[in-house]
Amino acid sequence: MPAPLIAIYPGSFDPPTNGHLDLIARGSRLVSQLIVAVLENTQKQPLFSVAERIAMLKEAAGSHANVQVDSFQGLLVDYAAERQAGVILRGIRAVSDYETELQMALLNRRMRPGTETIFLMASEEYSFLSSRMVKEIITLGGDVSHFVPSIVLSRLREKFSKR
Ligand code: ADP
Repeated sequence: MPAPLIAIYPGSFDPPTNGHLDLIARGSRLVSQLIVAVLENTQKQPLFSVAERIAMLKEAAGSHANVQVDSFQGLLVDYAAERQAGVILRGIRAVSDYETELQMALLNRRMRPGTETIFLMASEEYSFLSSRMVKEIITLGGDVSHFVPSIVLSRLREKFSKR
């Protein structure tokens, strides 16, 4: 019998969108444990701090018993080894995602043989949705209520009402 499958779903999640949540729901049905891991990227200036992103993800994905939320720095494969995860979960929205995702999956497998990346195709209704678009729309005063979970909408409104 195969060993229980621990998977990591890494990303920026700045902010988490309904597309991310859809991937978490679908991914969590395929594995024993899913660790949603927020990348602490010192090179990007994020809208939300890592702690804020973790809090939003915990609230929005809290109903899945086998989903944990964490953060990591450095190489994903090192973090995966530390968490004893053999699988990385990523989403693909369009052909444009494919090239970088393929490159990352191959690099990760080269750095840590045995690491497999599982890709889920974005659901049709979220295939156009990205954190970057959500930020652009809200910056321009548009409505993002259909694109993000309610906790994220509240945090976005708080952030933008202060500006
Ligand atoms: P990164 O900066 O690592 O790409 P993101 O938070 O933008 O971080 O995305 C994390 C992962 O979630 C990526 O694999 C991305 O393709 C996937 N993803 C993002 N938005 C969606 C969506 N709308 N539907 C499905 N997967 C998505």
